[in-house]
Amino acid sequence: MPRMLAEVPTDAPERDSVFTWQAEGSTQPELQDDGTDALQPYLRLAVHGSIWLTCQRCLAPYSQHLDVDATYRIVATEEEADEFPLDDDEIDVIVGSRQFDLVDLIEEELLLSLPLVPKHSVCPEVHESLLSNSAGDAEEVADEAGEDEKPNPFAVLEKLKGSDPDGKKH
Ligand SMILES: [Zn+2]
Repeated sequence: MPRMLAEVPTDAPERDSVFTWQAEGSTQPELQDDGTDALQPYLRLAVHGSIWLTCQRCLAPYSQHLDVDATYRIVATEEEADEFPLDDDEIDVIVGSRQFDLVDLIEEELLLSLPLVPKHSVCPEVHESLLSNSAGDAEEVADEAGEDEKPNPFAVLEKLKGSDPDGKKH
């Protein structure tokens, strides 16, 4: 699910999210325009799992649990989908086919279930003073080590000058 993966921060402890899902088809007899009953297919989809997101409060990755429970009225054509009143919040209408992409629908529903502002319910405490102190120490140590090990470029030149004429002598 590439669109879901795009939501996962690169510094997340795990980038492979596993979702469990269940899809169940059913039919309900419905009265048609011509007065007869016909079986209307429905699909019920449930998805559960967790995804790593970036907390918008402390900017650290955290694991967000996602739950999807949706029911779809499956119709044959776009025209039929347009006929169905859209004031029903409980049921979505989708145009079904034999090559129906269930993973695509699962990803769509998971994207819709993402929180608008992802954040920890309670952010973990971050000791910023401690973090900046330890970073400063590391920098100082690196500087000192660099000065000690840096060879003097003029000393190297002197060495080359000295050895070059010797090397050409026969
Ligand atoms: Zn947070």
